[in-house]
Amino acid sequence: LNIPNITLHDGNEIPQLGIGVFKVDPGEAERVVIDALEAGYRHIDTAAIYRNEAEVGAAIARSGVAREDLFVTTKLWNSEQTRAEGAFEESLGRLGLDRVDLYLVHWPQPMFGEALAAWRSLAKIAESGRATSIGVSNFEIEHLEEIIDATGVVPTVNQIELHPLHQRKELVAYCAEKGIKIEAWGPLAQGKSDLFKRDVIAAAAAAHGKTPAQIILRWHAQAGRIVFPKTVRAERMVENAQLFDFQLTAEEVAAIDALDEQRNFGSNPREMD
Ligand code: NAD
Repeated sequence: LNIPNITLHDGNEIPQLGIGVFKVDPGEAERVVIDALEAGYRHIDTAAIYRNEAEVGAAIARSGVAREDLFVTTKLWNSEQTRAEGAFEESLGRLGLDRVDLYLVHWPQPMFGEALAAWRSLAKIAESGRATSIGVSNFEIEHLEEIIDATGVVPTVNQIELHPLHQRKELVAYCAEKGIKIEAWGPLAQGKSDLFKRDVIAAAAAAHGKTPAQIILRWHAQAGRIVFPKTVRAERMVENAQLFDFQLTAEEVAAIDALDEQRNFGSNPREMD
């Protein structure tokens, strides 16, 4: 597979496409990750709360892919924000790794005011080399400002819900200004909408001989975003990776940009606890 890297502001390189394993049953996760690695994926996005870190780790160990060729992300769960160091070591233990490539604060939880403490812990974890890069997830502008103002440590990424129906333009512009790369979760709107059937998606798919999923993922890639669409099906893993052999026209991009309805399918970051 020919998957480009994106360079984070700390110099670390992340493959622009990975496999996400949210809601992948622990009984299936090892097989899913093995299939993804066999298809050529080298970037895996998991989280402590997905309860499949051990299976992700088992797949990595079994795959024989060299550690330095892999990019592994995991996330600090909400209930652990005041004990990030311990929770991180537990994640490493389940993954069977002595280092992750990227460690994220999963949600800001502004109602508890503990994200700043968590961020300070992640900065120490990064200093120790056990996480090559650190970042956040589901942070709004005010949550980013709080941790940056207090620590001077700028997250390398913000992993947020982003797809054609929910484009987060103001937050994306703020992150671009700070050098924070966007990781788009739910890049396909979690398969929960009629997005694949929209005329502009269908027209672009027909014009390029691609599937609607490939058109949407290509739209993300052309905007410089990092994506890790979830699928448990090996044939869709292959399909979702065929993004780097064609280009959407400026008109096609503009038509997809115009689909924004500010409509999210996941939780609201200001309320999620
Ligand atoms: P997604 O947009 O990747 O949608 C996944 C669904 O899309 C699949 O279940 C399937 O129904 C469909 N799909 C996938 N490939 C397809 C194809 N080629 N054709 C047709 N349908 C296809 O949603 P997601 O899983 O929520 O997001 C991707 C990853 O983002 C997750 O696995 C996880 O790693 C991450 N994530 C992070 C957060 C967070 O809070 N940080 C939240 C949700 C997801």
